[in-house]
Amino acid sequence: MLKLGRNLAVRLCYNARLKPPSAHGHPMESPLTFKAITHSTLPTKFGVFDITVFDDGEHEHVALSTGLHQLDDQPVLVRVHSECLTGDAFGSMRCDCGPQLSAAMAMIQSEGRGAILYLRQEGRGIGLSNKIRAYALQDQGHDTLEANLLLGFAGDERTYEMCQVMLDTLGIKRVRLLTNNPAKINSLSALGIEVTERVPLQVGENPFNMVYLQTKRSKMGHLS
Ligand SMILES: [Zn+2]
Repeated sequence: MLKLGRNLAVRLCYNARLKPPSAHGHPMESPLTFKAITHSTLPTKFGVFDITVFDDGEHEHVALSTGLHQLDDQPVLVRVHSECLTGDAFGSMRCDCGPQLSAAMAMIQSEGRGAILYLRQEGRGIGLSNKIRAYALQDQGHDTLEANLLLGFAGDERTYEMCQVMLDTLGIKRVRLLTNNPAKINSLSALGIEVTERVPLQVGENPFNMVYLQTKRSKMGHLS
């Protein structure tokens, strides 16, 4: 058994049935089932993480964590990061996702304790092909929010109900959240997750994403 210990092994058998509200606040008709499928260790250039995979029946989400075998009542440093293939894997400079993920992994390793919840909701929840469609609209002069709206989506289609199960499985009760996005804190709080502190994550600004970051600040409530 890995360092995570007996408690996680027990919790890995945990299945949760939740009825998350839809984007419009109405309960969804069929409850999602979340499962922690499996875990192992993942050595990275930032240090060694424990990796746990969760399945909500539609997507496989990932938790990278370290130091959680010595949990006490202190809040834990957590990054809730939504998948960005272009930024996370290809080093895209259209956004700041890649540097944010790297910085979060480094900060958590330097604290010796924390978790990244890597949620598979690409492109603020609209999917990869729609994100690239939105990029094409941005190439024509629209900003990131206008592009999403033109495609018939909300500015942000992400949901966070899977975080509840992931944090519960990892044994994390209180969170110091690495984010610049107050709406994310509100979404997690609404799910009953206690966020004790916002830890800013200011990395990854470059000449290609200055307008994008400015739009997130001026139109989507992100903080500097
Ligand atoms: Zn991105």
